[in-house]
Amino acid sequence: MKSNKILYFVFVLALLSVSVINAQNVLRSRSEITFPDVPGFITLKCDLHTHTVFSDGLVWPTVRIEEAWREGLDAIAISDHIEYLPHTNDMIIKHGRSYQLTTNLATSLDILVVPAAEITRKEPPGHWNALFVTNIDALVQTNYFDVVSNGFIQGAFIFWNHPGWKQPDWKSVWYKEQEIVYRRGHLAGIEIVNGNKYDPISHQWAIDKKLTMLGNTDIHSPILMDYDVSGGKHRPMTLVFAKERTLNGIKDALFARRSAVWLENNLYGDEEFLSPLFYRSIQIYTPKPNLRPRGNTLLHIKNSSPISYELVLRKTAKEISLPKKLMLVAGKTVLLEVRNGTNKYSGPTEVILPYNVTNLVTKPGESLPVDIKVTLNFLK
Ligand SMILES: [Zn+2]
Ligand SMILES: [Zn+2]
Repeated sequence: MKSNKILYFVFVLALLSVSVINAQNVLRSRSEITFPDVPGFITLKCDLHTHTVFSDGLVWPTVRIEEAWREGLDAIAISDHIEYLPHTNDMIIKHGRSYQLTTNLATSLDILVVPAAEITRKEPPGHWNALFVTNIDALVQTNYFDVVSNGFIQGAFIFWNHPGWKQPDWKSVWYKEQEIVYRRGHLAGIEIVNGNKYDPISHQWAIDKKLTMLGNTDIHSPILMDYDVSGGKHRPMTLVFAKERTLNGIKDALFARRSAVWLENNLYGDEEFLSPLFYRSIQIYTPKPNLRPRGNTLLHIKNSSPISYELVLRKTAKEISLPKKLMLVAGKTVLLEVRNGTNKYSGPTEVILPYNVTNLVTKPGESLPVDIKVTLNFLK
């Protein structure tokens, strides 16, 4: 009887430990982000502006790594402030220490961590991130231009953070300090998205001045305190189109201006990248491609990307009648009914569905035109 009881307890304990392990497995899981690659480049999901307790953040550096892993990111930058260190009375702060503390976990979780720092000055010139820094102590300088020069000498990728942050109505101002750094060739990028804020003025500057577009969280709290990342929702991020999934790959891509910015259900970037992202994420299947005069058929359009594409008809198609608006839902297949509005055609004919994808933004106020090709067999 006694040994039976012991066996019983061992059995219950074993059951309990299995369920605890299972629960942990579920909690520690990663949601993949399903953007396609673009020709010649891998699409990397990056948040290149985050904080920890080593400046004014509220989390330990390793927490940032696991958050990033769970949310399907490839890379993050730990960019603690250089000049603003409110926790110095409570802990020993050394520049770059937050980055060092992430390396073990980052290796285990295969997250790339960019060593970085946020240069933190009053406006102008404001706040700037220096990525791929090798010696943050060299950026501790009185003169702002010396800070930037010392970053540049280290090969850092330097971008202007949240340009409109301190301006009324977020109307970003290009100051003479910005112009000096830009003319010296030391300013390589600009945040067109910071947190949940999209800045069209900075977007236009990125286009006109050939700066790399970035969109980052600038997260200080645990991610769940500031962002809903459940049920397919996501943090703002920079998509980097890299030759390889390495820090060098990211650096090379950023200097070559190969990026786009994802905020909520919008993607901001050049047509060169948004166009292949769109075409490579949709697949069309036509079960019955035969169209009788006045007849109809259903196109099955699958969107494997994490963005629901919002389409508006650009012009009427001659061959068929199409809906004015169409939503290609992220991760789903939708049906599109096409009608043969003419009896002019016969035989297999390539038909173009001419839409604008209003949430793929190529310039402030301009969206990506797409011509979706399908072959239909018109019957007489
Ligand atoms: Zn800042
Ligand atoms: Zn910041």
